[in-house]
Amino acid sequence: MYDFLAGKQNMETSYFLSQGKTIERWNAIRKDNLVGSLVYYDGLHNDARMNVSLALTAVLEGAVIANHVEVLSLTKDVNGKITGATMKDTFTGDTWTTSSTAVINATGPFTDRIRKMDDPNTPEIVAPSLGTHIILPKYYSPDHMGLIDPNTEDGRVMFFLPWYYPISIFLMIGKETQSLELQTTQPISPTIPLQQKKTSNGF
Ligand SMILES: Cc1cc2nc3c(=O)[nH]c(=O)nc-3n(C[C@H](O)[C@H](O)[C@H](O)COP(=O)(O)OP(=O)(O)OC[C@H]3O[C@@H](n4cnc5c(N)ncnc54)[C@H](O)[C@@H]3O)c2cc1C
Repeated sequence: MYDFLAGKQNMETSYFLSQGKTIERWNAIRKDNLVGSLVYYDGLHNDARMNVSLALTAVLEGAVIANHVEVLSLTKDVNGKITGATMKDTFTGDTWTTSSTAVINATGPFTDRIRKMDDPNTPEIVAPSLGTHIILPKYYSPDHMGLIDPNTEDGRVMFFLPWYYPISIFLMIGKETQSLELQTTQPISPTIPLQQKKTSNGF
């Protein structure tokens, strides 16, 4: 599927790894019922660095940027057109209202919260899902190779990805939290007993 979607821009062709070769690479993998694994190639992108780069470029081009500033509400003119926003500096608690010709809602999973500031009756369009990152020493995964289990025993998606040396990131994206109500922009420490969550291949 990846090769097909990538077309001519495909990095490398996918291939099958036998059971023995899979165990050779991932010696922590559960061996029983293991047939083998499929290897495919994907790009790696550091979104944190890209965001900083975007912000700095905007400053170079004359933009004024602000971090840790929360939109509390939107302001409107008599015709109901959005004219700006009331904002809060989350460090100092200062609030102020600014006017603008356009307000762009780029709040990801919090999109509906901003949309409801405009129209409290608007139907929600986002179904949030919660993921958990665990950072492990690099030696848990082979060089230049990660692992994805798209359907763990409890219906989650699990990634195990090499990140910057010397760490790997073990990531489980939950199914049971899809109806989660996002109350805060700060990460919530889940009380999920991770040691009880098994992946279908025994990690
Ligand atoms: C655990 C996890 C793993 C993921 N892994 C991958 C992956 O491997 N590959 C991939 O392509 N995608 C992945 N995603 C999805 C990807 O992170 C999101 O699709 C992407 O970050 C969305 O970008 P965004 O800019 O729309 O929103 P976000 O990156 O969520 O940014 C929204 C911003 O809006 C801010 N905000 C919210 N409310 C307000 C407010 N009232 N006022 C001001 N600011 C506000 C938030 O603080 C946040 O900074 C993953 C997501 C999660 C949770």
